[in-house]
Amino acid sequence: MDKQLKAQVVFHLTGRHAQGDAAVGSMRPALLAAYRDLDALRYDFPVVLTQGDRNCVQSLSSIVDAALREVAPPGVPGEALRRRGLQVERQVRRLVSAGERGTLGELWGRAVQALAASADGAFLHDVSKVRNALVADGEVADCNGLLPARFLRHAWSAVQKEKARAAQERIGKLLIRLDNILRADYARSEAALAEPVLQASFGAAHHKMFNFDSMSKLLSRVGPRGGLGERRRRRVEESMAALRSQRFFAGPDTPDVHRFEFETADAALAAFRERLPELARLLKALQVAELEVEGAYVENVHDAVFADFDAQSVTPQDLEFFPDYLVCLEAGKPGAQGSLAEALSTGVPLKIVVHVADVLEEAGLGQGQFAFGMRGTQLASAALSLDDVFVLQTAASNLLQLLERVDRGLRYSGPALFSVYAAPEGGALPVYLQAATAMQSRAFPAFSYDPGAGTDLAARFSLENNAQPELDWPVERLDYADQDLQAVSEDVAFTFADFALCDARYLDHFEPAPRAAWGEGMLTAQDWMARPLRDPVLGVPYVLAVDEADLLCRLVVDERLMRAALRCREAWHRLQALGGINDSRAERMLARERQAWEEAHQREVAAAVPSPAAPASVAGSDAPAATSPATPAAAPAVAQAEPARNPDEPYIETIRCSTCNECTQVNPRMFAYNENKQAYIADLKAGTYKQLVEAAESCQLSIIHPGKPWDSSEPGLEELLERAKPFL
Ligand code: SF4
Repeated sequence: MDKQLKAQVVFHLTGRHAQGDAAVGSMRPALLAAYRDLDALRYDFPVVLTQGDRNCVQSLSSIVDAALREVAPPGVPGEALRRRGLQVERQVRRLVSAGERGTLGELWGRAVQALAASADGAFLHDVSKVRNALVADGEVADCNGLLPARFLRHAWSAVQKEKARAAQERIGKLLIRLDNILRADYARSEAALAEPVLQASFGAAHHKMFNFDSMSKLLSRVGPRGGLGERRRRRVEESMAALRSQRFFAGPDTPDVHRFEFETADAALAAFRERLPELARLLKALQVAELEVEGAYVENVHDAVFADFDAQSVTPQDLEFFPDYLVCLEAGKPGAQGSLAEALSTGVPLKIVVHVADVLEEAGLGQGQFAFGMRGTQLASAALSLDDVFVLQTAASNLLQLLERVDRGLRYSGPALFSVYAAPEGGALPVYLQAATAMQSRAFPAFSYDPGAGTDLAARFSLENNAQPELDWPVERLDYADQDLQAVSEDVAFTFADFALCDARYLDHFEPAPRAAWGEGMLTAQDWMARPLRDPVLGVPYVLAVDEADLLCRLVVDERLMRAALRCREAWHRLQALGGINDSRAERMLARERQAWEEAHQREVAAAVPSPAAPASVAGSDAPAATSPATPAAAPAVAQAEPARNPDEPYIETIRCSTCNECTQVNPRMFAYNENKQAYIADLKAGTYKQLVEAAESCQLSIIHPGKPWDSSEPGLEELLERAKPFL
C-alpha cells in the first residue's frame, strides 16, 4: 500500500488527522460552489408576516413582483422602474440578513435611504411608486434560528384570530337573541304594563294625550301574561351570564382572556385541564342558548341531557371551536421534550413546535447505542406511531412552501407536532442554505402525516417536496474545469456526508486528500455506501468540495460519519416505504408477479411453436394441429425464439427487473429505466467495467450480466473478470 493511501485509510478508520487539525474550515460541498452570495439571489427569504388569514406569510420577492406588475409597464418602457424596485428589494434582503428588524414598510424606507446617496430623482420617484403598490406589510423575517417559532406563532395567531372572530360572532348573535327573549317577556309582564312604566315608555310629548291608567288596565286584561316560565327564564339568564363571562375568545367586552401560549407541553396540558370545567360551562351555555333561540328546548328531553353536562361530556369535535395551545420548544434543551410523547398522546389540541438546531447531535462515547446520533430527526418519526397526531417535519428553508400544510396542522382538531430544522447562526453557510442542504441530503427530509386527510396511509402520509424522492441521494450535474482546463461534467450525489461538511461542528470528520493521492483507492461517498467495504484498503470514501478559490478538492470521510450516513439512508428508506416509494414488500410482490407472468408467457410461446414432428404429421391433413404441451421437448423451440446472446456482450434481463434502484445508483447514466420502470443498459461507455460488475453484484435478482470489458486498459480487470464469472 502506498504511503498516501495508507494515510487515508488510517484517517478513515480512526478519524485522527495526520497533521494536526484538518484544513477544511473554508471548504464547502462542490455542488454549493455557485451559492456564495445568497443576498444577491432572489429566493423565498426573507418572508413578510402579513395580517392575512390564509396567506399570512408571503415572500418578499412575491410581494415586490406583484407591485412591479402593477406599476411597471411591460417590456422596455418599464425596465428602469423594475430594475430600481429590485435594487431596493436586494438592499432590504441585505439589511435583514445583517440582523435589522422591522416591517416591510420600515425596511423599504431604510433601504431607499441607504441607496439614495448614489441615486437621482428618477430613482426616488420610481421606488416610491413601487412602495405605494406593495399590497402587503408586516414584520420581515429571515431564515434563521428564530424562524421556526416566529413563523409558526404567526400562522397560529392568524388561525386563532379567525376562530375568535367566528366565536365572537356566534356568541354575540346568541346574546342578542337571548336578550330579545327576555325583553319580549318583560314587555308582556305586569310590571311593564303598570301605569308609570307604560307612561315612561312613551315620549314626554304624549304624556298628556293618553290616559295611561286606563291603557294599563286595558292591556293587562287583553294582552298575554308573561310567557317565560321560571325555569326557562333561569336557563336563558344563566346562558347569557356564561356567554358574557367567557375568557376563551378576545373581544371588546372580554378584556381578561386566557393565554394560550406556553413554555412547556406540561404547562399547556395543566392549563387545559384546569380550564376544562370552564370550557364545558361555555359549551353547555352555547348549546342551551341555541336551542332556546330556536324555540327547540324541550324540557322533558334536554333537562336530563344538560343536568350532567360537565368536563367529561366534551368531545374532540367540541374542541375544534376553542383556541389551541401553542408550545415552542428547543430540541435538546434540558426538560424541553420531557413529556412530549405523553402530551401528544392525550388528544388535547396542543400545537407543539420543536426547533431542531443540530441534526447530527454528536454524543460522547458511551452515551447511547451510537456515538453519533440523529435524535432531532427521530422526534417526528416517533410521533408517527401516535396515530391521531398531525406531524410535519421540514427544514426552515422549506417552511414557506409548506405554508398550506402548516395551516392544515394548525386547524387540525387534535394535537400537532411541527419539527423544524434551522442551524444556529455563525456557521460557514447562511442558515437558509444550511437548512436547504439538510433537506436535500436526507439528513432532515420533509414529510407530513395528516390524520384528517383520509383513512389510509396513502392519503395521510406525504413525502412533500424532497428532491428526487425515488433515489437514495439526489443527483445533480457538476460542471467544472480540470487541472488541464478541460471542461468536465459529471453527476454528483448530494449525500449526508456533504451535509455534514456544511456544519462547522463536524469538520473534524474530513481530511483533505492531496491531488497526487487521488487514485483507484478512493470512492465517492455514494459509491462507498452502495456497497460498504469491509476492507478500507479497497476504497476510502470521499466527498467533492471546493475551497475559497473554488478549486476542486477531495475530502476523505471518517468511518464514524459514514456509519451515520448509512443510518440516515436507512431512515430515508423507511420514509420512502411509508410514502409508497421502493416499498420492499410491494417490490417483492411485483417481482413474484413478473416471474409468474414470464413463466406463463414462456409456456404460451412453447405451446404455440409446433414440435419438429408436427408439420409432417399434419401436412395436408384436415385434422386440426395438436397443441403441444409446454414440455421439456418444446424448450429448444423456445430458446430459438429468444434472441441469440453473445456471452461477451453485457445485458440485463429487463423483463425480470424489480426496479430496486441498486444499479441506477451505481451509475445513473450507464443504467436507466424504460417506460415500464425496468432497468436496461442505457450507455455502456458512461461508466467502467468495475461499475458494471458492482451493479451485477448488487442486483438482488442476479439479472445483470456484465459480459466482457469494453476497455481493455481499465485497471484491475483480472480481479473484476473473476468477480463477474457468476453472472456471465
Ligand atoms: S439492480 Fe437488478 S433488479 Fe435492481 S433495478 Fe437494476 S436490474 Fe433491476
